[in-house]
Amino acid sequence: MQHLVMPAVLISIGSNLGNRQSSIDYAIAQLRAHSHIQNVVVPSLHESESIGGPDGQGIFLNGAALLDTTLPANELLVVLQQIENEANRTREIHWAARTLDLDIALYDNQIIDSESLTIPHPRMVSRKFVLQPAVEIAANMLNPQSGWTLEDHLLHLKQAAQAYIVFVASEDEKLQLEQAISSHPATENCKLTVAAAQANSVLPEIPGSTRLAMIVSLQARRLCSSITDVPCSLPWIYVTNSETSVDEIVAAIQASQ
Ligand code: ATP
Ligand code: CA
Ligand code: CA
Repeated sequence: MQHLVMPAVLISIGSNLGNRQSSIDYAIAQLRAHSHIQNVVVPSLHESESIGGPDGQGIFLNGAALLDTTLPANELLVVLQQIENEANRTREIHWAARTLDLDIALYDNQIIDSESLTIPHPRMVSRKFVLQPAVEIAANMLNPQSGWTLEDHLLHLKQAAQAYIVFVASEDEKLQLEQAISSHPATENCKLTVAAAQANSVLPEIPGSTRLAMIVSLQARRLCSSITDVPCSLPWIYVTNSETSVDEIVAAIQASQ
């Protein structure tokens, strides 16, 4: 019989509502039991404070799973969402507390940008709670966008950034954000530049020794694909969720501090 190499997939797992451990155990048992999933390897679980989303949420328990599967990415997402539903996951408020969250962080060396799926997960490289457990089981797995291993990304993230460039989609958003964010405590000890991706796609001068983090709103990233000057695939680019809001930009800054 021919031996086929199945794609290796990294799933990130989180829970901060209900019995966190049993929801995560349930997810892992369901993955192990699936007929198209094999070789499930899991790290130890770590706790982390919730970042972004509504206030007053419980502490997260985070894990991961490295597995081989013959399911294509979109079918795997359906399987993960089914498991989330079985664990009573609800989705009334974005980034609200959840019993179970299963994200596809990496799917082999694939880069996918569809309506329902973005792989590599666009926020994984700015999240210690994703990278820490992932490195335990897949330190040398490559992020196909950056060419960096997960270990490289974690080491990079552990060094606090001293300068940020935030790319947004329009001059209006730029003005709004500049006013709202420049006095925020998260930006007190760093150099912050806000730029509109369309109008100003040139990187400001930053001394070579400064660790730079670039934060790109999702709308700006879509614009960026047609602007070659904005290097959209660098390892230190953190993409926020769908809206350019002060909360999301601050959460991305805090995640890399
Ligand atoms: P975040 O994406 O910032 O971690 P979240 O996990 O709380 O936020 P959800 O409400 O669980 O977000 O998912 C919203 C949508 O994200 C899903 O319906 C799914 O279609 C989409 N999605 C895009 N890329 C991925 C991915 N790599 N893994 C899982 N879901 C994804
Ligand atoms: Ca998530
Ligand atoms: Ca999710």
